[in-house]
Amino acid sequence: MDTLLVSEIFGPTCQGEGASLGQCAVFVRLGLCNLSCAWCDTPYTWDRAHYDLRHQPAPISREVVWARIRAIPAPLVVITGGEPLIQQRRLTWLIDRCSAAGRMVEIETNATLVPSLPMLQCRARFNASVKLASSGVPAARRIRPEAIRALAKARTCWKFVVNDLADLEEIADLENRFGLAPIWVMPEGTDATTILRRLHEFADPVLARGWNLTPRLHVLLWGDERGR
Ligand code: SF4
Repeated sequence: MDTLLVSEIFGPTCQGEGASLGQCAVFVRLGLCNLSCAWCDTPYTWDRAHYDLRHQPAPISREVVWARIRAIPAPLVVITGGEPLIQQRRLTWLIDRCSAAGRMVEIETNATLVPSLPMLQCRARFNASVKLASSGVPAARRIRPEAIRALAKARTCWKFVVNDLADLEEIADLENRFGLAPIWVMPEGTDATTILRRLHEFADPVLARGWNLTPRLHVLLWGDERGR
C-alpha cells in the first residue's frame, strides 16, 4: 500500500490551467482512469487498447515519489492523471509531506469519485473537471451527484473543458443543480491555433455569465509535447 502507480513526474513547469495559471509547479501524473473521454490528452495513462501499459504507469514507492518531488524546486505540486482519486487511499501521506514542506498541492479530478475523509482533511485544493456530453462518456458515468456534492463542500475550483457554445448551457445546468463555484471554462485543444480560436469564441459568453476563462498555457508554450 505504499506504492503509487505513476505515469510521469516532471517539472519545473507551469500550471497551465485554471485558478493557479502560470504558477511554477511540479506535476505528478498518476496512472488509471475510470472514464474514457473522446478527446483525452493523456490516454497513455489508462488506454490499454492503444498503449502497452505493462511497464508504464509503473509502481513507485511513495518515498521515491516524494524524493523526486523534493528535487524539483517548485512551490506548487499538481497531482493529476488519469484520475488520481482512484489511488486516494495511498495519496494522503504524500500530500501531507508536500504540505509540511511548505508546498501547495492541487488535485485534478474528474469529480466522479467521492473523496475520502482523510483526503478532504488534507490541505489540498481540488480542481474538479466534470465532463460534458462532448466527452462522449454516457451521463450516468460522468455525472456522479454524490461525488460532486462532496467536492462542492470542499476547497474546490470547477473547470470545464468546452468544444462549442452549446457546452455552456450544460455548464449552467450543473451550476444551478449543484451550486458550483468558482467556475473556469477552458477550450479543448492540443495546439495553439485551436486554443486561441476557441478562446476568442468563448470569451464574451463566458465572462457574461460571471465565469472565468482559462487557456491551456502549456499548450500555447509547448504544443502537445509530453512532460511539459
Ligand atoms: S477523465 Fe481525464 S484522464 Fe480520464 S479519460 Fe477523461 S480526460 Fe482522460
